[in-house]
This record gives sequence, structure tokens and C-alpha cells, in this order.
Amino acid sequence: MRIIFIGPPGAGKGTQSLRLVEYLGIPHLSTGDMLRQAVVERTPTGVLAGPYMDAGQLVPDDIILKLMDERMRKGDCGRGALFDGFPRNLHQAAALDRMLEKMFGQALDAALEMNVDDAEIIRRLSGRQRTDDRPAVIAERLKSYWHETRPLLEYYRQRGVLRVIDGIGTQDQVFDRIKAALGRQQPV
Ligand code: AMP
Repeated sequence: MRIIFIGPPGAGKGTQSLRLVEYLGIPHLSTGDMLRQAVVERTPTGVLAGPYMDAGQLVPDDIILKLMDERMRKGDCGRGALFDGFPRNLHQAAALDRMLEKMFGQALDAALEMNVDDAEIIRRLSGRQRTDDRPAVIAERLKSYWHETRPLLEYYRQRGVLRVIDGIGTQDQVFDRIKAALGRQQPV
């Protein structure tokens, strides 16, 4: 299965992604994790991306698409993949469709929206320890979510693959909702 997770920062995408990849036995492709590793390793990508991340802004598409293209060529995505934090805008979404078609002749199976309201997001993010979780940066990241990422919901709704998940509740409750939303499809 090829699945993407959409939701504001702090919606619980990361936690639920880890459970879902284990359940489905597919690789977890998180652009945020890849970028944070590149920053730590001071690779050219990390050096370019770091300032955008610190400011809570989206890293330019050419950097992201190159990173994702390289990752998808590793040969472990044939049976599916979970995309976490990617795509973040319509340009990336169109690029992902093209990559999936070209590399695997396949389309996306599901776009899961983690639905959590802003007040809860701010409460959750305030308790985290990441350098990009300072209040001003949180506001910027929420802004980029609302302006650039939310249009993806309509994009995927029109393609019939959007599934809205209520992100409020225990981790087990949310995970059960995700499995239900994916329907009767068995782990691949
Ligand atoms: P995340 O862990 O997904 O919240 O990502 C952390 C930061 O990495 C974001 O605030 C962006 O600066 C950057 N980032 C991650 N994924 C993307 C993406 N697909 N497009 C642009 N920037 C991204």
C-alpha cells in the first residue's frame, strides 16, 4: 500500500506512522526525519535546509524532491511505503503522483488526514523539546500548514483517496480509527 499522512505539526503523524509501518510491513519515508539527519551530518542538503526548518518554513521543493527521489530508488518501496510529512504542497503532490507512476506504475491508495484543532496542537507542541517547537516557529509552521498543505485535502478528496481520522484520543483509539479507515485491506 502507498499511503500518505497529512496533518498539522503535533497532530500525532509521527507516532501513528511508526505503528502503521510496523503493522503493514512497509518502509517509513519521513522527509522531516531525513532532513534532521542531513542537518546533523552537515551534508549539502542539510546545510541548505537547516535555515528553513529553523524558521518553520517549507524547504524548497527541488531539495525535497531530490531527497525523495533518491530515497525511493533504494529498492525497498516496491510493496508500498508510508509517506510522512510529504507531500506538503500541491507541487510536491503532483510530483509524487508522477514518481509513483514512473517507478512502480501505481497510484496512491490512501491519504490519511489527522484532524486535530489548533488549540490542541499548540498545547501538544508546547510540551515538546524540538528546536523548531518555539512559539514563533510553531506559529509559522501552522501558517505553512494552513496555506500550503491544506489544499492537498481537496486534491486527494477529488481523487477519492482521502480518509479523515479524528486525531483526538488515546494512541490506541487513533490507531484503531486508522486501521478502520484503511478498510479491509490486509497488511501487504
Ligand atoms: P516535520 O518533521 O515533518 O514537521 O518537518 C520538519 C521541518 O522540515 C518542516 O517544518 C519543514 O521545514 C521541513 N520539511 C519536512 N518535510 C518537508 C516537505 N515535504 N517540504 C518542505 N519542507 C519540509
